[in-house]
Amino acid sequence: MKVPLLDLKAQFKEIRADVLSAIEGVCDDQSFILGERVSTFEKQVATFLGCRYAVGVASGSDALLLSLMTLNLQPGDEVITVPFTFFSTAGVVSRLGATPVFVDIQADTFNLDPEQIEKNITSRTKAIIPVHLFGQCADMGKILEVANRHGVKVIEDACQAIGAEQQGQKAGTMGYTGCFSFFPSKNLGGVGDGGLISTNDETLKDLLLALRVHGSRSDYHHDHIGMNSRLDALEAAVLQVKLPHLNTWNTKRQQNAATYDRLFADAGLLNRITLPHTVPGNVHIFNQYTIRAQNRDQLMSYLQEHGIGHKVYYPVPLHLQECYQPLGYQKGDLPVSERMATEVLSLPVYPELPESQMELVVSTIKDFYANH
Ligand SMILES: *Cc1c(COP(=O)(O)O)cnc(C)c1O
Repeated sequence: MKVPLLDLKAQFKEIRADVLSAIEGVCDDQSFILGERVSTFEKQVATFLGCRYAVGVASGSDALLLSLMTLNLQPGDEVITVPFTFFSTAGVVSRLGATPVFVDIQADTFNLDPEQIEKNITSRTKAIIPVHLFGQCADMGKILEVANRHGVKVIEDACQAIGAEQQGQKAGTMGYTGCFSFFPSKNLGGVGDGGLISTNDETLKDLLLALRVHGSRSDYHHDHIGMNSRLDALEAAVLQVKLPHLNTWNTKRQQNAATYDRLFADAGLLNRITLPHTVPGNVHIFNQYTIRAQNRDQLMSYLQEHGIGHKVYYPVPLHLQECYQPLGYQKGDLPVSERMATEVLSLPVYPELPESQMELVVSTIKDFYANH
């Protein structure tokens, strides 16, 4: 690849000594499970987010799962979410025996369309999971308004949106809980899997602390049926090194996105592609820079041939996945999500990406459309 979609080695080079010494510290202590490194990191994230509590867990998927576990879902209970997301947003609902109810998205932001919520709410609706996709918040004002009117909890899937904001509030701090992932490709990535739940509710925080250690509040006494889902001390130590850099990295992603916007406009390509749209009042942190492209699949082959990294997030909307056939959705049921799945294309936008590389991405796309 001439331009990789993501180059984690570029970031590691800048913080190598600090990361290695953090890892060495954990090994020297031989203290791997929970402990001071995890609790310190949790406090640092809560401060960064501007919320009261943060609970480290084993992954973003588990952050969603544990949040839902606090609602005691029963078979037949429903959770409203979007089909245009990573699988786990809906998979966790099914895992608990409840039913995901898919609602369509807005074409300009790829996020949950609040106008679609109300007609899908039933007496069995227990929660709504909006996804802050690609690093931009869904319309939380409208979502919370409908949810509150119906007494339904809002669990924010902020896995791609650590540091994103809406009207001055950080993603993950507006709903019942916020769910974060430290999967290596996220804006704050660990050295393996990791996740975190944010909340302002002390009772809920205590319940989550118990649920991540098999529902136990003191050793070998179990108040709840929980699971084993902890953030490793090793992850926490590395993430403590990285967190102070997050704002800088997010800013660089924003600058790269602005550079692309300018280059695509200068190249006269705005009749061929649609640029990402940032809603006024939102701070977008560009976990992905995702365009909509005419002739997308042919463009992809062309980029592949010319060594330009790219990826489709996500090619198959969840309501059309094999495993969800029993839910009975048909092609055409959620037309915006289905159309976006055929048009979207994510391009390299990582913080260390040089402008010359972005110029190459844009000129390659320009060459493609000159001949198609
Ligand atoms: C990454 C991601 C998850 C899951 O996070 P893991 O840490 O990989 O379990 C969930 N939802 C979205 C939108 C994600 O991007």
